Amino acid sequence: MAFLTETYTRIKQTLDAQKVALVAVSKTKPNSDIQEAYDAGQRDFGENYVQELADKYEALPKDIQWHFIGHLQSNKVKYIAPFVYLIHGVDSEKLLLEINKQGAKNNRRIDCLLQVYIAKEETKFGLDEQELKDLCDKIRSTPDQFSNICIKGLMGMASNTADVAIIGTEFKNLRSLYDQYARISSGSWKFDTLSMGMSSDYQLAIETGSNMVRIGSLLFGVRNYPVK
Ligand SMILES: *Cc1c(COP(=O)(O)O)cnc(C)c1O
Repeated sequence: MAFLTETYTRIKQTLDAQKVALVAVSKTKPNSDIQEAYDAGQRDFGENYVQELADKYEALPKDIQWHFIGHLQSNKVKYIAPFVYLIHGVDSEKLLLEINKQGAKNNRRIDCLLQVYIAKEETKFGLDEQELKDLCDKIRSTPDQFSNICIKGLMGMASNTADVAIIGTEFKNLRSLYDQYARISSGSWKFDTLSMGMSSDYQLAIETGSNMVRIGSLLFGVRNYPVK
């Protein structure tokens, strides 16, 4: 399986016209596939596993913007902190403080999205509305503790269902939270990114106000997970 260049070109044109950013989700895919996407013009790639991301960063062109979209453990932040472009899945104060610490060590401000739990599934990660509020209050009230991160927006994953009404409602909920928190003004806060939508639901996500989609299998074909 290789990169599907024609599909990419078509999707990319549509997204560009709508001013929606495309993160090409390349987890489990070989470097040769990513290089093909790069040669077709793609620069933003999303990965879910720290070690895999670090290896790909070493091997591939240095102007790639790497998005970490998986569940990040605090003790692994250090491996991606020097180069990661945007961390999508921040879901705790502990993790955010560690990202801030590693940002300081690397003399940079690391851009983050707060992940909100919008689906009705136990398996998904993210903050619920109250936790989101508490974390936002914390960031606002103690800005000195967060001077090496910047909160750029929210990220969410809808339920894995064919029922578009459910998915649409979940996306709308996230959009309204985004609008609500976008009004905050603080040095560590610069909302301009709403990351929602994947291969199966990105069009619906855009209709609901997403401006960044994370698309994997449509561009790279289905994933074969290695047996662990
Ligand atoms: C794997 C993954 C995607 C891409 O999923 P596809 O269905 O292959 O487009 C998007 N977002 C997250 C958080 C993922 O883990």
